[in-house]
Amino acid sequence: MRVPFLELKRESERHRTELERAIARVLARGWYILGPELEALEQEFARYLNVPFAAGVGSGTDALSLALEASEAVRPGEGDEVVTSVLSAAFSALAILRAGAIPRFADIDPATLQIDPRCIETGFGERTRAILPVHLYGHVCDMRQIGELARRHRLIVIEDACQAHGSRLDGNALGTFGFAAGFSFYPTKNLGALGDAGMVVTSDEGICLRVKKLRHGGQSRTYYHELPGCNSRLDEIQAAVLRLRLETLEAGNDTRRHMARAYDEAFADLDLTLLPVRPGLEPNRHLYPVRTRRREELRRYLSDHGIETLVHYPVPLSRQPALSRFVLPGQEFPVAERAAREIFSLPLNPELTEAEQQFTIEIVRRFFQK
Ligand SMILES: *Cc1c(COP(=O)(O)O)cnc(C)c1O
Repeated sequence: MRVPFLELKRESERHRTELERAIARVLARGWYILGPELEALEQEFARYLNVPFAAGVGSGTDALSLALEASEAVRPGEGDEVVTSVLSAAFSALAILRAGAIPRFADIDPATLQIDPRCIETGFGERTRAILPVHLYGHVCDMRQIGELARRHRLIVIEDACQAHGSRLDGNALGTFGFAAGFSFYPTKNLGALGDAGMVVTSDEGICLRVKKLRHGGQSRTYYHELPGCNSRLDEIQAAVLRLRLETLEAGNDTRRHMARAYDEAFADLDLTLLPVRPGLEPNRHLYPVRTRRREELRRYLSDHGIETLVHYPVPLSRQPALSRFVLPGQEFPVAERAAREIFSLPLNPELTEAEQQFTIEIVRRFFQK
C-alpha cells in the first residue's frame, strides 16, 4: 500500500461537478476581480468565525503583512519590530519583513510547541510594536498570557491563523482573539483554494477598510492612489471555489478530529510523544505531529512501507539564511532546536481512507514492537 501525505486530486475529483459549476458561474458573469463572489465569501467566512469584518487578499503571507500594515502599529522602514514564534512556516516572519518591520523570535513551549509567553520578552528589542503568535498545527497559543503581555507593553496582537481554520477555544474561533488575524487558503490548508488566496479578519472596521485599500493599489477610488498599496486580490474563481469548500469545512474538520482520536488511542502506549490538547481547545487537526528521538529511523521505516510523512518544520526560523540576521545577540532557542530534530507529521486529512490510516497505525506500532 502507498499512503500519500496528502493527495489534493482526491478531493477535487470527488467534488468535480460542483467545482466546475462554481467556476462556470464566474465565467458566465465575466467578472474576475473584486466582484460578488469575493464579497459573498468575505461575509460567509466572517459569519463562520463570528467576527465582524473580513478582507480577501492574494495569500496568507499577504494577509499577515497587510494586517500589520493596516494596523498602523508598525511604520514601514522605521525599524519597528514584531515578535513571532521561532518554530513556524518561514512565511510568518517573511510577512513581518514585507510589512517593512523587523522580525524577532521567541522560543516555544516544550509541550505545546507553540510560542512560549515566557520567552516573548527575550525577543523584545528597542522598538517592539506587535506580537504575531502562530497557532501552529491548528492548536492554540496561550492567548491569555500573550494578551496580558501585549497590554503591559502596549503592543498589538495579530494572530497567524493560517493553519487554524475552524479551531475553537472555549467556543470562540481562533483568529478572533487578537486585533486582527491572517488566514491562508493555500491548497493544502483545511480550507484551500485551487491556487493562492488569503483573508484578513478583524473586529476593527478601520483595519478592514485599509486592507481593502492596500490590496488594490492603495486606491481610494479608481485611479486615485491614496496609500502606497500593492496588488493582492483574491480573485472571483478562487472565491467561488472557497465558498463551495467553506460549506464542507466543518465536516472535514470533524473527520480530521475523528482520525486524530484514532491515532491518539492507537499510540497511547508507545514511546511516542503526542501533542497535548489544551483544555477548552477544539483543534481543527490541520496536522498531526508526533515526536520521538528516533525520528529518522521511524520516518525511514514508514517510507520503506510506502507511508509518506513530512517535518513541520525542520529548521527553526533563527537558522534560516533569510532570517538569521534578526536573532538578537546571545539569543538561543534550545526548545525549538530540539523539537525540530524530533517532530514529524503523520498523514491526516479528510481524504485519507480508513484502510490507509489503519495501515499507518499498524506500521508505527510494528516499529516500536520490533
Ligand atoms: C501557510 C502558512 C502561511 C503562509 O500562507 P500562504 O498562503 O502560503 O502565503 C503563513 N503562516 C503559516 C503558519 C502557514 O502555515
